[in-house]
Amino acid sequence: MDLSRRDFLQKLAALGAGLASPALGWAAQTAAPGGPGTIRRATAAAGSGAVGVHFVNHGPGLGRRIAVTFDDGPTPGVTEKVLAALRERHLSATFFMIGERVAASPSLAHRVRGEGHEIGNHSYTHPQLGRLPAPQVLSQLQKTQEVIEQSTGFRPCWMRPPYGSFRPAQAPLAAQEGLGVVLWNVDTRDWARPGTERILETVLTQARPGSIVLMHDLHLQTAEVVGRILDGLLERGFELTTISGFLGSPRTA
Ligand SMILES: [Zn+2]
Repeated sequence: MDLSRRDFLQKLAALGAGLASPALGWAAQTAAPGGPGTIRRATAAAGSGAVGVHFVNHGPGLGRRIAVTFDDGPTPGVTEKVLAALRERHLSATFFMIGERVAASPSLAHRVRGEGHEIGNHSYTHPQLGRLPAPQVLSQLQKTQEVIEQSTGFRPCWMRPPYGSFRPAQAPLAAQEGLGVVLWNVDTRDWARPGTERILETVLTQARPGSIVLMHDLHLQTAEVVGRILDGLLERGFELTTISGFLGSPRTA
C-alpha cells in the first residue's frame, strides 16, 4: 500500500473509532491504539513470497459498503439456506471455512464458491491459534489452504483466527501462507442462538459504513433470519461486498 492510501485509511479508522462492539476481546485490545480499522503491518519473514500482514476489523467508512461474513461452515442444511438468501438478492458474502468441515463437505464448499462468494481460511480444527506453537499454527493454515483449493479451486488470501485468537508475533506465519488477518466489528453472537429477533436487531443497530459483520453458517436460527438481515441492510442503503472487495488482497491492501 502506498503511503497516501495508508494515511487515508488511518484517517478513516480514526473517524470510525467508537463504532466497534464491546465484545471484541482480543481484537479490541490489540486494535485499540489506533482505533478500529487500524491496519497493522508486520514485516514478514524474508523470502520472495513474503507479504505485509494486516490485522483488519473494518473496511473504508466512506460510501455505504459493508461486508457480511459467515464463519465455521460449511454446514449441510444451513449453508444452503444462507446461499439461497444471498442468491435471491444477488448479493455476495465471505465464508470463513474450517478445513476439516470443508473436507467433510467438499461439494458444499465448491457450491459456495460457484455462487460467487469469497472463501476465507478459518483454521483446520478451530483451535485458539494464539496458544499454539508456530509449527502447529502453520499446519492449521496450510492444511486449510490446501483443502479449500482442492475443493473449490480458490486459494484464500484472508484468514480469520477462531475466537480472534492470534498474536501479532504470529503475523509472519499468516504472511508465509499469503494470508492477511481479518477480524470483525459487528458481532451478532449468533453462535449462542440468542433468537432471530436479537440477531436482526444487533446487525441493524450496529451496522455502519465499513462494518464487517460476523455471523455463522452453523445453526438454522441464523439461516432463518439472514434474508431479513439482508433486506434490512439494503433498505438502509448499504451495498454488500466481500472482504477482498472491501480491502483488496493482503498484497495490495
Ligand atoms: Zn469460528
